[in-house]
Amino acid sequence: MSVDYDAIVVGAGPAGSAAAIALARSGRSVALIERGPFPGSKNMYGGVVYGRILDGIVPNWWEEAPIQRWVTRRATMMMTDTQALTVDFRTAAWGAPPYNGATAYRPDFDQWLATHATAAGAELICSTTVTGVLRDGNRVVGVRTDRPDGELTARTVIACDGVNSFVAKEAGLYGEVEAHHYTVGVKETIRLGRDVIDQRFGLRGLDGADFEIVGCTNGIPGGGFLYTNLDTVAVGVVLELPSLAKQDRRPEQILAGLKSHPAIAPFLEGGEIGEYSAHVIPEGGLAMMPELVGDGLLVAGDAAAMCLAAGIWLEGVNFAIASGHAAGLATADALRRGDTSAAGLSGYRRRLETTFVLADHRKLAGAPELMMSPRMQRAYPQVACNTAERLFTVENPRPKTGLNAIVRSELKAAGVKVADLGRDALRGLRSFG
Ligand SMILES: Cc1cc2nc3c(=O)[nH]c(=O)nc-3n(C[C@H](O)[C@H](O)[C@H](O)COP(=O)(O)OP(=O)(O)OC[C@H]3O[C@@H](n4cnc5c(N)ncnc54)[C@H](O)[C@@H]3O)c2cc1C
Repeated sequence: MSVDYDAIVVGAGPAGSAAAIALARSGRSVALIERGPFPGSKNMYGGVVYGRILDGIVPNWWEEAPIQRWVTRRATMMMTDTQALTVDFRTAAWGAPPYNGATAYRPDFDQWLATHATAAGAELICSTTVTGVLRDGNRVVGVRTDRPDGELTARTVIACDGVNSFVAKEAGLYGEVEAHHYTVGVKETIRLGRDVIDQRFGLRGLDGADFEIVGCTNGIPGGGFLYTNLDTVAVGVVLELPSLAKQDRRPEQILAGLKSHPAIAPFLEGGEIGEYSAHVIPEGGLAMMPELVGDGLLVAGDAAAMCLAAGIWLEGVNFAIASGHAAGLATADALRRGDTSAAGLSGYRRRLETTFVLADHRKLAGAPELMMSPRMQRAYPQVACNTAERLFTVENPRPKTGLNAIVRSELKAAGVKVADLGRDALRGLRSFG
């Protein structure tokens, strides 16, 4: 059968470009189709890329990737309306190769990764939306696009079209997905100037800060974040969709509440909003993952719900790159053997089983439910903040109250039984241990 390409990759986000890199480097003809005018033009996220997965794809990537700052300060903040208790970690180790996390703008980062796909021989086709899949019986044999002459055929299609993957859904890889598996993230990018950011966050050179915040979402399961770029900061909230719909505050109001919190406002004072954006996040992990392959079709990245998210924990770009690359390699193997049926493409799952992609999802399978529970979202931040406030308040001439008594009374005030605390601690150990 004559076809236009060995493979068509839908979506030039991190998953799509990584898949195209693997295929093009295997000598396969590959089209990388992107609806935006350039890769990254339609994409938003919080702001931190965990780049170690690139070690095997772009050696010494840190010397050329369009990085804003290297994250050397990572803080977790528990908040009530007026208080904040922060665990603030810094390490010089993350400020040197091979680094840990980096802030980067998606239009820069996605374009950069896509240039590695085109350098290897992939054909990048932008401003083109895939509107349907072509089938021969059950087998996917290509895609339909919004161009007048827009049908393209291929031996395999890799769906990397992000959350709510139209391609995976149309091809029948998804069953029913429950709404509580999705959150919406809203974010503002605020211009402050490099010196101001360095001073306010205590940074030097290309050092960067990453704050994750719990207790800032008006009781809606979710979390907040504050990240430093070179001369802007990103501030945002992530909100579980059904709970957001049930109450009357809009996401931008909740974000405004975070921005005006006494622990956050001083960081942002005098800043100018450069950009406001919103995007849906697949938070369900294993519980919402679709079939990963069909005849002639694979699905990777957010399109396969491979984002690892649990309230304040958000890793997606690294999972997208790893799964996209694995999909590209598995497709190249299948093409070599001349079998691109679902069985022929099953090496994709085997590859994912040997990497962190499925291992981390299994390990943290219980984390989203725990992190999104009312106790984690409201009660524990309140207990932690009130405990700190009472512990550090000097009430002379009254003598000090012991920590044990303070914690017990604060747990009681928050309606948390000691047994609940024990159970949650155990679940936490199981989920993150
Ligand atoms: C608010 C928020 C904060 C986040 N913070 C972080 C973070 O700090 N760190 C992190 O690692 N992850 C974060 N994530 C998650 C991360 O953004 C995703 O996991 C990651 O972008 C997934 O990559 P992907 O390539 O699978 O999909 P995407 O990045 O969504 O790329 C999909 C691509 O497909 C294109 N496309 C879609 N449909 C079509 C179509 N029909 N035809 C052609 N092209 C199409 C899109 O334009 C896009 O370029 C965050 C997400 C959100 C929403």
